[in-house]
Amino acid sequence: MAAILGVSSAALYGFLYRSFSHQLNHQLRTLAQAAVPSLDTVKTEGRRSLDEDLPWRDLFLYKEQSLEWFDDDRNLLARQGSDFPDIPLSKSLPSTDPNPGLPEIQYRGQLRVMTIAVYADDLDGKTLQLEGYLRASQSTQRMNATLNHLRLGLGLGGVTALCLASISSLYLTRQAVKPMQQSFQRLTQFAADASHELRNPLTRISIATEIMMGHPDQLKPSDIKKLTTITHATEQMKRLIDDVLFLTRTDAAYVPMARKESADISLHEMLLNLAERFESQAQVKGINFQKRLLINLSVKGNANQLERLFSNLLENAIKYTRKGGRVTLSLNKYRQNAIVSIRDTGIGIPSEYLPFVFRRFWRVEQSKAQDGNGFGLGLAIAETIAKQHRGEILVNSQEGIGTCFQVKLPLT
Ligand code: ADP
Repeated sequence: MAAILGVSSAALYGFLYRSFSHQLNHQLRTLAQAAVPSLDTVKTEGRRSLDEDLPWRDLFLYKEQSLEWFDDDRNLLARQGSDFPDIPLSKSLPSTDPNPGLPEIQYRGQLRVMTIAVYADDLDGKTLQLEGYLRASQSTQRMNATLNHLRLGLGLGGVTALCLASISSLYLTRQAVKPMQQSFQRLTQFAADASHELRNPLTRISIATEIMMGHPDQLKPSDIKKLTTITHATEQMKRLIDDVLFLTRTDAAYVPMARKESADISLHEMLLNLAERFESQAQVKGINFQKRLLINLSVKGNANQLERLFSNLLENAIKYTRKGGRVTLSLNKYRQNAIVSIRDTGIGIPSEYLPFVFRRFWRVEQSKAQDGNGFGLGLAIAETIAKQHRGEILVNSQEGIGTCFQVKLPLT
């Protein structure tokens, strides 16, 4: 809007400046041409003739106009008016080559000066003879004052138009966005309600299977296999529903966690507990698990959520690292932030996929084939939790070499 207003104001100003300038030149040319017949008289009778013969006052359109008469040797013969340019006649004016159509325009301070060469028929009547010069001047003060007013008007008008446009566009945007916000809220509410409702039948299924599995003697071996598959699928669906529920709930009210809602959490303690849990998982898979945790670092937040964040990252690190590899969990301090790093020597993520890893339901093709359990929500949840704690997650990875996730959280 500012650019449009700026360009159109500049175009309007340019157009008016040109037309005022042309008008001024036209007035000067008319004045000089009106005085042409008098040059001969001034040359013979001197400036006295001006006072006697001609009603000069009527020729001047404004009081700031003036006229000067010069002979063919560029000597000043007479002058009429108030403001005169203190410069000699321009050297570039034609003296021998008659070209009466081209007046010479000069600028001197606030004065615009126009000089025309005057020619008369020679004695033979065939050639033109230079008779002298006429120089008309006019102050550009009046034009400049009008242009100043115009600039001020355009500036004030532009600012007012911008303010009005901003206010009205803010209002219109809010009006236009309202239905979208409402439908987005309805959608997230629906997803949250649907996920919540789905949990009940799943819980009933898992209770029923658990009861049946509690009496293996009454089951055929093939039924036990089927029930195990059902239990596994039910658990997977429950996890998926929990994840979707978490994300839709945070979408519906996406605000960083209020300070008073959160408690002081010792990261060292929390990570130590998690390390114990994941160390045994890593051992089972033949992975070397290491930890380097700085003590006395605490953050404000929700302990369950932060545990979920670090668990997701540790789970991935173990899941995507092969036997004989290494997973390192470290906690450090950098300025006023705690930095939790989870580094692995696993399969890594191809660099072209790195920008997508935090997207919902996004998985590297290779991972889909390797592990059917994931849904591609773990990192999305981790990022949401980090943001809710006013932190961020960074990822660094090289295919075939390993991956490092760094979680930055503000310290209390
Ligand atoms: P998933 O449940 O599939 O693990 P995530 O959101 O946790 O979902 O991860 C998304 C994808 O990012 C994974 O499918 C995997 O391809 C890739 N990924 C995440 N962590 C790692 C890691 N430590 N090493 C290699 N790839 C990873």
